[in-house]
Amino acid sequence: MPRDLEGARAIVTGASSGIGAGIARAFGEAGASVIVNYHSDEAAAAQVVDDIRAAGGQGEAVKADVSQAEDCARLFAAAETHFGGVDILVSNAGIQKDAAFTELSLEDWRAVLDLNLTGQFLCAQEAVRRFRAQGHDADRGPAMGKIILMSSVHQAIPWAGHVNYASAKGGVKALMESLAQEVAGEKIRVNAIAPGAIKTDINREAWEDEAARKEMLKLIPYGRIGEPEDIARAAVWLASDASDYVVGTTLFVDGGMTLYPSFREGG
Ligand code: NAD
Repeated sequence: MPRDLEGARAIVTGASSGIGAGIARAFGEAGASVIVNYHSDEAAAAQVVDDIRAAGGQGEAVKADVSQAEDCARLFAAAETHFGGVDILVSNAGIQKDAAFTELSLEDWRAVLDLNLTGQFLCAQEAVRRFRAQGHDADRGPAMGKIILMSSVHQAIPWAGHVNYASAKGGVKALMESLAQEVAGEKIRVNAIAPGAIKTDINREAWEDEAARKEMLKLIPYGRIGEPEDIARAAVWLASDASDYVVGTTLFVDGGMTLYPSFREGG
């Protein structure tokens, strides 16, 4: 991994598993210091921190429920304490609570919106406040700060049986673009990544079972299910100054899932 994030200070939410863990490890390998946020699995977060340190980086595990404003603020305070500030936020934590539309409880609607949309709002808001308080140190790079929100192909692809999740991700698109427009003049770059199907705990039933895996592959023109590292490499680039002119963009990393593969024949 090229050390494209040498000296950068990052917070990655939901980093004890899946995509967040992959991003935290890749950031460490690229030279960043990383606050590894976890919600409940302290041992898994400690392992990610160990891996970052083994790669020569700095890491600290911090427990926080990012659907709560005071918990988000605690992550940024930890970055200040351990690293002297923050340059990059990857707002990645997310959940699914799936149900057919008329079976979906208000509780599960709210739980998904509270974390997948409001949680991203709260962390991004705290990031912008902190970037402003720190000011722009041109020695640290052309941007004052960088924010990457974790969206999904379902910001674009409707998803029956998952209206809470799709609504949250559609909201993330609007949040990201509106915020990017609002703060770009201050040299804060806001972008999003929209993963396709990536092998993690969130969708285990869609890739662990062979029949389900075959069905899933029909939706992916590139012919394989993604790995957390596919997203991590994109995140390193989007967080680095190599992408300095990329502002307000959603980077789809989906093996072509958004290319309407069922239109390959006919249509
Ligand atoms: P995952 O379940 O491994 O990761 C989600 C993480 O969020 C977990 O570490 C979990 O502990 C954490 N989390 C849950 N509630 C939290 C809270 N209140 N506060 C802080 N952290 C909390 O699944 P993943 O696939 O790695 O998901 C990461 C992100 O990627 C999510 O936003 C998800 O919507 C998005 N995504 C995943 C896929 C995919 O195919 N895996 C596709 C598109 C988007």
